[in-house]
Amino acid sequence: MKRLLFSFAALLVLFITSCSNFSSIEKHRIGLPEQGDSVMHIFTNQSEQELSFLHLQAGPLTRRDMRSKVYATLKDRMLATVNDPGNPGVGIAAPQVGISKQLIAVQRFDKDGEPFEFYVNPVIEKYSPTQKWGWEGCLSVPGKRDTVLRSTQVIISYRDPVSWDMQCDTVDGFTAVIFQHETDHLNGKLYID
Ligand SMILES: [Zn+2]
Repeated sequence: MKRLLFSFAALLVLFITSCSNFSSIEKHRIGLPEQGDSVMHIFTNQSEQELSFLHLQAGPLTRRDMRSKVYATLKDRMLATVNDPGNPGVGIAAPQVGISKQLIAVQRFDKDGEPFEFYVNPVIEKYSPTQKWGWEGCLSVPGKRDTVLRSTQVIISYRDPVSWDMQCDTVDGFTAVIFQHETDHLNGKLYID
């Protein structure tokens, strides 16, 4: 009886950790946990099909997604992709790797050690009226750079992946520009649009 209960509990844990709202195509793109340190294919404007995918509105992540291995692997692989020495970036959004979910990684140039941090379901709550023109590039628009007018400060909200509480942060300068660029991706907008 004890053994039966144990097997049932193990099965339940397996079921819960394997449940997520990622589609089968997305799961296939994300791959297995063993591939965590490998670079993902980046969707670019060079392909009409990929460009129309980049123009989609991304869907929110759920609390259940947070507990899935698929989510953990996606984070690992997005980090490997944005840190690719051959094609590095300062931020990346899940739609750029073919995952239509509200997840971004931003290099926090305003923090010690300039770490990459992930944000779940991020929303820009407030754009400062003060704006500045600055140069931008995008991993999904290879070989191009252009100037974009952006707010110099933003207030962002996002979900804490563990407590699922709403968090807020005020961000300035170049890091604020990255947040605007990456959240635009979640709303199907490229900086060239
Ligand atoms: Zn971009």
